[in-house]
Amino acid sequence: MNLDLDDDARAFQAEVRDWLAAHVPARRLPPVDTAEGNAAHRAWERELAQAGLSVVSWPAEYGGRGASLLHWLLFEEEYHAAQPARSGKRGKQEAPLGPAAPVRINQNGLFLLAPTLFTHGTAEQRARLLPRMARSDDVWAQAWSEPGAGSDLAAIRSRAERTDGGWLLHGQKTWSSRACCADRAFGLFRTDPAAGPHRGLTYLLFDLRAPGVTVRPIRQLSGDNGFAEIFLDGAFVPDADVLGEVGNGWRVAMSTAGHERGISLRSPGRFLAAALRLVDLWRNAGDSSDGALRDRVADAWIAAQAYRLHGFASVSAPPGHASPFAASLTKVFWSELDIALHETALELLGPQAELPGDWLAGYLFALSGPIYAGTNEIQRTVIAERLLGLPREPA
Ligand SMILES: Cc1cc2nc3c(=O)[nH]c(=O)nc-3n(C[C@H](O)[C@H](O)[C@H](O)COP(=O)(O)OP(=O)(O)OC[C@H]3O[C@@H](n4cnc5c(N)ncnc54)[C@H](O)[C@@H]3O)c2cc1C
Repeated sequence: MNLDLDDDARAFQAEVRDWLAAHVPARRLPPVDTAEGNAAHRAWERELAQAGLSVVSWPAEYGGRGASLLHWLLFEEEYHAAQPARSGKRGKQEAPLGPAAPVRINQNGLFLLAPTLFTHGTAEQRARLLPRMARSDDVWAQAWSEPGAGSDLAAIRSRAERTDGGWLLHGQKTWSSRACCADRAFGLFRTDPAAGPHRGLTYLLFDLRAPGVTVRPIRQLSGDNGFAEIFLDGAFVPDADVLGEVGNGWRVAMSTAGHERGISLRSPGRFLAAALRLVDLWRNAGDSSDGALRDRVADAWIAAQAYRLHGFASVSAPPGHASPFAASLTKVFWSELDIALHETALELLGPQAELPGDWLAGYLFALSGPIYAGTNEIQRTVIAERLLGLPREPA
């Protein structure tokens, strides 16, 4: 493919870069799991939405600008590379700046639920849910995992019982990212206990503040309330909030999982920006006689570039071209790259690496990459059995 951007793409890139340079807050926003941080991140999302930048590839009727997925990739590159307006030019000895644009508080909605709604939602659901999501009026959490159902997701025991006009939820969910600061959740529930494990599940959208819902934060390794347990005791979900058909939840969930493992949740821009910061760190702090470490910096940069090209190839391929299981390959790739990038940075920093900072925080979060979105062990089984056609593991 021709990798040169056309005039339209270049103009879009410049627009995004200029807007971010003028608007990225000069000071870091407080963490999303605090009341102050929650409000500040929602305000930032509203600002992005007003500028037509919160969901560039969505149709205009839902708050986007109907841009191509290639433009979305370019937006992501600019977003992750952005620096605050007042940072100015850096001197040679100054420490490289970390990621500056606020984390997307609604990432589960924007990058996981929205693409699922585009594929499986009704026109009514899209019209009702997407514009609010685009402005982060509704922030979404994913409520799939349970104490006995992580890798073995089909072992879900939380159930939805039929009632007049909808469903009543019972059970417990866990590890729900951002649930403590979210408004709504998309969950998987057993609606037919007599059907096989994969068949009796339904994908339901529910209100985290409804009567019968209790959200209890869980403190992460970093000290943040990154995720939460959700206890359900008869919370009501109207029929209008069944996504896909009743009993077809597994299929809908696998569509979400494809976006979670592929480029939607973790776009190439994120790793490209981190790789460039690593190169910067090498230039500032590297020991030129340490060829092995220099090679690791170069490897990380090359891998980030490769992922960028993979992103371009993915959005240019005709629909249905790639196997639905290819996202497992992507997931293993980005999660391992994230660890390698951060490990290399910590080694470059030496004893300084132990001081609180972006590289250490990034490293701690990178360690969770091989776990969330389906563990890498499970992804390797999918790659072996579904992509390579190797013999199935004995049950
Ligand atoms: C940062 C983070 C954010 C998360 N956010 C969410 C969220 O928002 N919503 C949500 O629902 N969940 C979320 N999760 C949960 C995540 O999906 C689960 O942790 C993951 O699916 C693994 O499940 P588990 O923790 O129960 O581990 P287990 O399934 O108990 O696995 C434990 C270990 O055994 C291995 N293992 C299990 N079965 C097999 C097998 N068949 N073959 C080989 N190895 C196997 C696993 O790979 C793993 O190493 C999050 C997790 C993390 C770390």
